[in-house]
Formats: sequence, structure tokens, C-alpha cells
Amino acid sequence: ERTLARRLGVNRTTVVNAYRELAAEGLVEGRVGHGTVVLGPPEPRGADAVRPMPWAGPTEAEEPLVADINAIIRRPGAISFAHGEMSPELYPAEAVAHLMQQVLQDPAALGYGPIAGLMPLRQAIADAMGVTADQVLILAGSQIALYLISRVLLQPGDTVLVEMPSYINTLGIFDSAGVRVVPVPVDQHGLVVDGLDELMLRYQPKLLFTLPTFHNPLGVTLTPERRRRLIQLAARHQVGIVEDDPYGPLHFTGQPVPTLKSLDPGGYVIYISSASKAVSPALRLAWIVAAPPVVERIARARGSLDFRAALLNQRVMEAFLREGLLAEHLGRLRPALKERRDLMLEALQRYMPDGVSWYVPEGGYHIWCRLPRPLTARRLLTEAGREGVAFVPGDFYGAGQMARRGLRLNFSYPRPEEIGPGIARLARAVERLLRE
Ligand code: PMP
Repeated sequence: ERTLARRLGVNRTTVVNAYRELAAEGLVEGRVGHGTVVLGPPEPRGADAVRPMPWAGPTEAEEPLVADINAIIRRPGAISFAHGEMSPELYPAEAVAHLMQQVLQDPAALGYGPIAGLMPLRQAIADAMGVTADQVLILAGSQIALYLISRVLLQPGDTVLVEMPSYINTLGIFDSAGVRVVPVPVDQHGLVVDGLDELMLRYQPKLLFTLPTFHNPLGVTLTPERRRRLIQLAARHQVGIVEDDPYGPLHFTGQPVPTLKSLDPGGYVIYISSASKAVSPALRLAWIVAAPPVVERIARARGSLDFRAALLNQRVMEAFLREGLLAEHLGRLRPALKERRDLMLEALQRYMPDGVSWYVPEGGYHIWCRLPRPLTARRLLTEAGREGVAFVPGDFYGAGQMARRGLRLNFSYPRPEEIGPGIARLARAVERLLRE
């Protein structure tokens, strides 16, 4: 104590008192023959006993853009063009309730079911796609399908070509798989196929990811000519094509668009579709249609990820198809969505100032709208928030000029009577920015 006091230039009582305080807090202990020893941190007591687990990382903050959009949507009277789903009255709730009752007559509907999915459901999808059931795998949503494809068919360091702008959650999957993403542009006719030959030569990609029909976020559809050329290029360069097609059944022209899968005799296309956009995302059902070895490898990997898709929901979906209820439901849904699209197009035409343009989608959920220079969609979101209307700014879906000046406007969620007034509000916000 004396030595320490001398070294610190304080008197001895100060040192003695300091030791006493440390001992009272359980930080040091006087031991006979050893002097004063320093102990570890005190055992927590009471409320202090809750300590972070050593494996708990920092909680990721909500993406600021999502927080901004949610803040607008939450306000009373707000109109949302920012959703990625339908308004609830468009779901086939009555049919699902009836079928749930019906399939539960058999208690086995509450069991696990097979790893690759319920066979009659695989068969029904195979029949609709013109393939055999061993080419169909049922999964719990396209998100899991994309995840498994990225883990089973890709290695870290591989390159994938991804159209840009693109479905945002795909980008996250490729990021976390450690693969290099090379962007491919998209225009009003879908993926730009010119230049793809060079890209494939240069980067030797394993896969190309595309949403050829009623693109999210652009709403555009790949032309038949580009479809043919894309398949030829895939075969020439041995590149797999992942065709993400949740919106395909939601066409407004009376004619379905032929899938890339149906144009692909060589088996380069891995097709994914989902019940989420045409029926209900709550069912968590999607399917991969691919060559049997791909189906088998992915089925095995799913065993250690989510084990099975919900059998009950698969039974409901199977009955929905078998009883012709899907056709009936789509017969109502397509005109309802088309009506909303038309209301949005009319309102854009009526209210938007010169210089604002948009693509006309032939199906799906979204209209992509472009602002004139120097406006940006992010800036507009702030202004639109003041008007109580929300949308998703294009740069959420990728980088570049096209994305920065683009808006994804969803027409499947707002009620028909909200669409005109919502676009009028948005147009007022655009006009204010143009005057600045
Ligand atoms: N792909 C695209 C293009 C989508 O828009 C969505 C849903 N927003 C998904 C995949 C994911 O759908 P699921 O609910 O089947 O996971």
C-alpha cells in the first residue's frame, strides 16, 4: 500500500480506501500470504443477470428505406402502392376454408409427407407443365427454392448473371452465397439479350437468373424472339437459366405467355413458380421444375433445411387444382387485377406531368414508372409521404440511372377506389419537385 501510494503520489489512506471500495464491489480480495488479488467481474445479480449470449450478434437495423415506407403506410388515410401482395378480398378464402375442412377428414393430412412433396400435387403440376412428376419438387416458397439453388448448384466464387433491376430478395441470396453477380440490363422487352454472348464468354457464369414474365419490379415481359435466343445462348455456353415465374398465371390478355422451360428441350432451364402471387403467400408453396438429378440434389438439401413443405397446405393446393377451383379463382382474379391496372394507367395518363413515363404490363402486380431528370425516386418518396402515398423507389432493386429514377407502383394491393386518388396525390408530389 505504501509503495503504491508513493508511486501514485497520493497518501496511504487514499490507497487503503480504494482497496476497500474495490473489495466491497467484489473486484479484489485480500488473501493471506498473497496480498490483494484481482478477481474476475462480479457474478451478475437480479436484473444484471441477463447478459447477452456470446453468440448473439448485433441486431440488424431495419433497412432505412423500408422504415420510411412503413412510416408512410401506417398513417391513417395513407394509400400504399408499395405492397408486394394482393388486397385480402382477392384471396380465395372461402375455397381454402372449405378444402381445409375437407382434407382434414383424413387425419394423415397432419403428418409429414414425402421429402419431394405430395405425389398427386407433383403430378398435377407436371401435367400442367408437360413434364414428368420426377421433374417437380414442392418447396415452402420460391424464396427457399432460390436459396437451395444457390447453395446446391453454386460454389462461393462462382459467377451468376442477374438481370438488373431485379427481385430484391434474390440479390440478398446471391450475396450470402458468396457468388459474384454480374448485372444484365432489362428494357421494355425484358432481359437485353444483345451482348449476352460476350458476357457469357467473358465471365463463364454458372447460372443466369431471370424473371421473364411480368417482371418484378418492371412489369415487362420477355419477347418470344429474345426467349428463343436466350435458350440458344444457354445451350451454347452451358449456362443454367433460373426462370422465376410467380406471376405467369396472372395474364390480362387471355393468353398465357409460353415459359422459357417450355422452349428448352436441352434442360438448361430451372423453373420456379409459386402459389404466392396467384393464390396465397400464406400457403408457403412453390415448386421447382428441373431435370431429375437437379430435383434430387435439391430435395436432399432441403431435408436438412426445412425438412418438408406443410403437408396440410399441399393437400389443400392439390384439391384446389383437382376440383377446378384454381381455374375458377383465376377467372375472377385476372379481371380484378386488370381493372386495377387499367385504373392506374388511366390515372397516370390523367394526372402525371409531362416527362413522366411508364411501361404497360400485360399481367402481374406492378407498373414501373420513370421520372424525368433530375428527379430521383428517393426524393419523391419523401415528398409523397407528405401526401400520404407510398411506393418502392427503384434503387431498392439495383443500382444505376434506370433504378434511381424508377418507381415500382403496385396495383394489386390498393382498393380500386384508392388508385385514382393515390396517383393524383403522387402526381402533386412530382409537380412540387419539378417546380423546385
Ligand atoms: N420471386 C419473385 C419475383 C417475387 O416477386 C416473389 C414474392 N415477392 C418471390 C419470388 C417469393 O415468393 P414466395 O412467397 O414464393 O417465397
